Amino acid sequence: MKSADIRQAFLAFFEEQGHTIVPSSSLVPENDPTLLFTNAGMVPFKDVFLGRDPRPYVRATSAQRCVRAGGKHNDLDNVGYTARHHTFFEMLGNFSFGDYFKREAIRFAWTFLTERLGLPADKLWVTVHVSDDEAERIWKDEIGVDPERFSKLDEDNFWQMGDTGPCGPSSEIFFDHGPEVWGGPPGSPEEDGDRYIEIWNLVFMQYDRDAAGTLTPLPKPSIDTGMGLERIAAVMQGVHSNYQIDLFANLLKAAADVIGHHDITTPSLRVIADHIRSCAFLIVDGVLPSNEGRGYVLRRIIRRAVRHGHKLGAREPFFHRLVAALDAEMGEAYPELSKAREQIEKVLLKEEEQFARTLDHGMGLLEAALAELDGEVLAGETIFKLYDTYGFPFDLTADICRERGVTLDEAGFERELEAQRERARAASQFGADYGAAIEVEGETAFTGYDRLEDEARITALVDG
Ligand code: ATP
Ligand code: MG
Ligand code: MG
Ligand code: MG
Repeated sequence: MKSADIRQAFLAFFEEQGHTIVPSSSLVPENDPTLLFTNAGMVPFKDVFLGRDPRPYVRATSAQRCVRAGGKHNDLDNVGYTARHHTFFEMLGNFSFGDYFKREAIRFAWTFLTERLGLPADKLWVTVHVSDDEAERIWKDEIGVDPERFSKLDEDNFWQMGDTGPCGPSSEIFFDHGPEVWGGPPGSPEEDGDRYIEIWNLVFMQYDRDAAGTLTPLPKPSIDTGMGLERIAAVMQGVHSNYQIDLFANLLKAAADVIGHHDITTPSLRVIADHIRSCAFLIVDGVLPSNEGRGYVLRRIIRRAVRHGHKLGAREPFFHRLVAALDAEMGEAYPELSKAREQIEKVLLKEEEQFARTLDHGMGLLEAALAELDGEVLAGETIFKLYDTYGFPFDLTADICRERGVTLDEAGFERELEAQRERARAASQFGADYGAAIEVEGETAFTGYDRLEDEARITALVDG
């Protein structure tokens, strides 16, 4: 079953169950300055759950584009290392706004997986929250899940919109990819492995938390679920890694071709194939590379992709050339992607060219520093120089160091940044217009004067 067919089957199934199909919203959340990117299917429905945005339906279903590359949900560092994480992915979801609750949500999910998709029940593992006896009863007595493949867990199974507001227990469904893959069932010490992969998360919004932390039952509990399209596609296509599904096969091939590196299992190619999706769709949704906020996240992802290409030998801009392949894969489901294609190519090419001017030198400096390394920690001054002179965002240097088993002196780097800021402040007292200088430099390799503030802003943004 192709990814596109799974997306279609999901929406059709829930439409049959009385859900209205709602098109994907933008990656830039509307009216929500607290959130960096849309990172779950429920984000566009936040106000509907809160009762502030009345809709003509009480059941909805969607395939929502999501980015998790900043804020609380940041999977950037997982990409290239796990079989299941992307910066960009599609979340299939069904939602009940005060309509049906646990029993139906569980039944729908199980029916879709085992009947519509025909998955064997003995490959599916289920978790619920420790407190949730009701969900346990439904799973065991009504659905008939084998207690051997069922467990009650704590932190992973409680969801909240924020420090206050709607929250509730959740239930996660995992697929067992078999003993050839390392990893243990949810809740076991080896759960971080990739054998048991979480495919679907059901959230039972049943409480309202007040500032004191007291939970009051909601008069009309709601449902929010999310299933990663790429993960369920891997299951349906009988492959272990998301990067082996139809959609990625073609993107990886395109990346291999433009770079001239033909082993498509190379982690760097996977990173590139992942990153072209988030970068292209962020540009579709109006984000442009810049030195702060969302634009800086985009810039960081692009530079990471370009560095991975460089690692594989690319010496010419290549990243923008993948937009055509992405369009071929996803343009039908997302016409806005096809429409913006030239614009995306232009933005990426410009950013690639700009970074190319300093990448080689920066890599030279870093290689020399790594070769001379005394111990396993890269000095703060080196990280700062890479950042300040060569436009290496902190996480880019961290990505390279991780490949070499080297850690970074982050505190030292922050000290350097602070010292630079002090110098800027002192200079501005003498009338130099540093602010303007920074604006202009932003156009060159300069990657952001105020990383600290910027990072602080990013981390202050809470997720839904
Ligand atoms: P994991 O524990 O594997 O990181 P999660 O619990 O963080 O997943 P949820 O927040 O529950 O994920 O999101 C709902 C669903 O979206 C997950 O069950 C999974 O199928 C999918 N998903 C989450 N994060 C990613 C990602 N980075 N890439 C691809 N799919 C994802
Ligand atoms: Mg996660
Ligand atoms: Mg999880
Ligand atoms: Mg989850």
